[in-house]
Amino acid sequence: MSGFVERPGHVEVEGLTHLHTGKVRDLYATAGGDLVMVASDRVSAYDWVLPTEIPGKGRLLTQLSLWWFERLRDLVPDHVLSDTPPPGAPADWAGRTLVCRNLDMVPVECVARGYLAGSGLAEYRVDRTVCGVPLPEGLTDGSELPEPIFTPATKAAVGDHDENVSFAVVAERLGEKRAAELRDLTLALYSRGREIACERGVILADTKFEFGRGADGGLVLADEVFTPDSSRYWPADEWAPGGPQPSFDKQILRDWLTSPASGWDRAADTPPPELPSDVVERTIERYREIHRRLTGGDSGL
Ligand code: ATP
Ligand code: MG
Repeated sequence: MSGFVERPGHVEVEGLTHLHTGKVRDLYATAGGDLVMVASDRVSAYDWVLPTEIPGKGRLLTQLSLWWFERLRDLVPDHVLSDTPPPGAPADWAGRTLVCRNLDMVPVECVARGYLAGSGLAEYRVDRTVCGVPLPEGLTDGSELPEPIFTPATKAAVGDHDENVSFAVVAERLGEKRAAELRDLTLALYSRGREIACERGVILADTKFEFGRGADGGLVLADEVFTPDSSRYWPADEWAPGGPQPSFDKQILRDWLTSPASGWDRAADTPPPELPSDVVERTIERYREIHRRLTGGDSGL
């Protein structure tokens, strides 16, 4: 079991209805039926939302998502209507709020992998496949795959792991045509992202997209895109398959949590402890660094 150490409350804003508090984001509906997504500074690890926040993370990830949405728009429409918080919103929502089309979400997490890591690696070690896709012998932690693969997952409730499934399971659920459409779009978006990241000296090892359907039934890219919360980013010049890669995300705090210094027993069902300030600082610096490397801009965040 796992879950929330404490569940930070959403705020009451006139004209908005609170819909959902996820691990990281708070969702509201406007009177007109649009969706307001507010990214918090919360961070999750090992399926727990940690008691310590990472100041500035919500803004950095929102700005990165926006930057990417712009670079994918010729491939797929996205759900963003505006990045201006609705009237009456708290001042600190600026920069971390997206007003979006409220879509009928496709109940599949669309994952693309170009490299072997995480749950993909774990599956590969069992039977040389990932989500039913056969892979060659001899791959190791961090290996580049012969070609990018679609490895869908079904979305879990808060506190549970998403479950990797095969393409056949998605086809059974959604129909062959829609499953193929999701796979092809997922791989096309991943290729674009990977290419752009590569030009900036960054490996986009894998990523997860969420899609919805618009009024016309067409696929719309929703949620967040190519953020370090939804993607594995590795510095290309340090890539060395055969072990865990240094990554631009919360690896620093994950490593601390599982080190003796934290005193936390991951196996016991006890909440993780507060993070020391140097771990918080080093983590936020990683998020700033990936934002800087990709966008070339000083985030000022
Ligand atoms: P986690 O991603 O940490 O596993 P979560 O998905 O429950 O948890 P968040 O990511 O914080 O929580 O919340 C975003 C929620 O909003 C998700 O359920 C996502 O599917 C949904 N969502 C994203 N974009 C849209 C959209 N345009 N219309 C409707 N729902 C959306
Ligand atoms: Mg999510």
